[in-house]
Amino acid sequence: MIDKPTKKRRLSFLTQIRRAFIFTQKYTDTVDKIKSKSKGPRGGSLYLCPICKILHPKSKIEVDHNPPVTPFDKYQYDLSEEEVINNIMYNDCQALCKDCHKTKSASDMILRRAAKKNK
Ligand SMILES: [Zn+2]
Repeated sequence: MIDKPTKKRRLSFLTQIRRAFIFTQKYTDTVDKIKSKSKGPRGGSLYLCPICKILHPKSKIEVDHNPPVTPFDKYQYDLSEEEVINNIMYNDCQALCKDCHKTKSASDMILRRAAKKNK
């Protein structure tokens, strides 16, 4: 019998899975989808954010899960570890610049709150 994971353990588990995701082919393919032909001042590739339409270096690009890893009407702790892994590894995702990702995550939080209120 496995003990119910503590919040702390669950959080570190999630962080590790998200870190592992960065090393998957899916992550690379997602980021490569927005790779432009333009090069930065030091010759590095630039990536076109689909939201702000600005070219960014790879260091400013993040991958956003859509649908989100935790559905809007659920809490992280409602999901089993298997569901978390599946959602991180297999949900559709898109590459965005850090600023647009931050803005999208903030608006997701509003949707999340509304979804829970209506539950
Ligand atoms: Zn952007």
